[in-house]
Amino acid sequence: MAKPNLQPTRTPMAEQAPELRSQNFQEVALGYIPEEAVQEARRCLQCKKPACVTGCPVGIPIPQFLAKVAEEDFAGAFAILSAANALPRISGRVCPQETQCEGKCIRGLKQEPVAIGRVERFVADWAAKNHLEGAPAQPGNGHKAAIIGSGPAGLTCAGELARKGCAVTVFEAFHLPGGVLSYGIPEFRLPKAIVRQEVEDLKKLGVDFETDMVIGKVLTIPELFQRGYETVFIASGAGLPQFMKIPGEGLVGVYSANEYLTRINLMKAWDPHSSTPVLHGQKAAVIGGGNVAMDAARCARRLGAEVHIVYRRGEAELPARKEEIHHAREEGIQFDFLTAPISIQGDEKGQVSALVCQKMELGEPDASGRRQPVPIPGNTYSLPVDLVIIAIGTSPNPLSSEGTPELAHTKKGCVAADPETGATSIPGVFAGGDAATGAATVILAMGAGKRAAQAMEEYMEKGE
Ligand code: FAD
Ligand code: SF4
Repeated sequence: MAKPNLQPTRTPMAEQAPELRSQNFQEVALGYIPEEAVQEARRCLQCKKPACVTGCPVGIPIPQFLAKVAEEDFAGAFAILSAANALPRISGRVCPQETQCEGKCIRGLKQEPVAIGRVERFVADWAAKNHLEGAPAQPGNGHKAAIIGSGPAGLTCAGELARKGCAVTVFEAFHLPGGVLSYGIPEFRLPKAIVRQEVEDLKKLGVDFETDMVIGKVLTIPELFQRGYETVFIASGAGLPQFMKIPGEGLVGVYSANEYLTRINLMKAWDPHSSTPVLHGQKAAVIGGGNVAMDAARCARRLGAEVHIVYRRGEAELPARKEEIHHAREEGIQFDFLTAPISIQGDEKGQVSALVCQKMELGEPDASGRRQPVPIPGNTYSLPVDLVIIAIGTSPNPLSSEGTPELAHTKKGCVAADPETGATSIPGVFAGGDAATGAATVILAMGAGKRAAQAMEEYMEKGE
């Protein structure tokens, strides 16, 4: 066993300089080189009861995988990692590790926690570069499963079932698979080549993808059963944007973050050769304080705008990942805290000209435990802008109930599903990821896909 590294701070990871990266869409974080990964992995104390593992939604045996990296056995580390996590190149980049594994790491009590995500990313990238593959598919077991949606929940479920020998078809409404990984999270945080590679690897396992296929419209769930699928997993995500219902939301130059990001990421509107237009804007206001708001703001910045993030609570309440806030600030994005938009004004051509804002202060905590923003009477002002992006949340994509009126939903419009198995009110139909929980995280969607695959296999084996 290598000697533990007692350095109190995390091994830094190289990044593109802010002034350079705020003008391009290339990846910001550049990843560890082998020596850095080994140095960081050696900071792990190899706890007997590793708290980090309890913080990981897919239960990666973290100390064991870090021990392999510390011994410079990267292939061994990948074998451990890939057995528990189907998409480690993706989760190593986008997981909110600071509130999950790293948030629980014992070293974090007095110093900086082990940078588990950075080491995970290194191992997964190293394996891809060296053409290492995860476990192969078992011989065909004669079963056939359909998956609706190709985000992290659908992709994980597809991989798990294909490895068990099941014939799997993923039906995707968009022309490209990947869900939010393709249309939401920008290239500079998650290069699309990685998502394409994950999809190619699933195809090699035998998974079939049918894109441009909206289930509930082109084909219904009962029609999938008629086509011989024995079980169906609904992983249709939560991409339906919410609006503020304030005057001026219909003006030219107002986008939902989902539309704005889809134009940029999926339709490549940032590329001058793309046929998809997007308003570049001189001065943009992005409304909201989550990861989606940070992504939209950082895209607008890269397209040349001066950007303000308008958030009705204070800095301490920002829900976005710390790293994203830090990167946004470094790139010159301004934060207007304790500010709530009350209307959007337009010019004579119907184009956005200003965002009218109300200054707020924090009052008593609300049901979520966060202090409620309260307007300060008479304190309003006008922020001149020509682009407004609304990033205040999304709801589950409504799946047409055609053929499945008995599919139960929660009050918030999620498909009602057992959190352990994903079982729904219809036998053989399972659901998971954002479609069942509302907007959440990549790793939670992956965990749901993994658990549902297990339950779907058991369902098919019973031959119900
Ligand atoms: P999705 O990824 O939404 O995929 C659902 C898929 O189903 C979509 O491709 C959709 O087109 C398809 N679909 C919908 N209806 C149908 C239908 N009727 N028929 C066929 N296909 C259909 N999480 C993190 O952990 N870290 C981050 O940094 C992070 N950043 C984010 C940034 C943005 C901009 C957004 C929008 C989300 C972010 N999230 C992040 C959240 C995370 O991406 C989601 O929680 C996750 O993608 C949910 O996965 P999913 O598989 O349930 O659904
Ligand atoms: Fe290592 Fe931290 Fe996990 Fe302990 S809690 S095993 S130090 S990563």
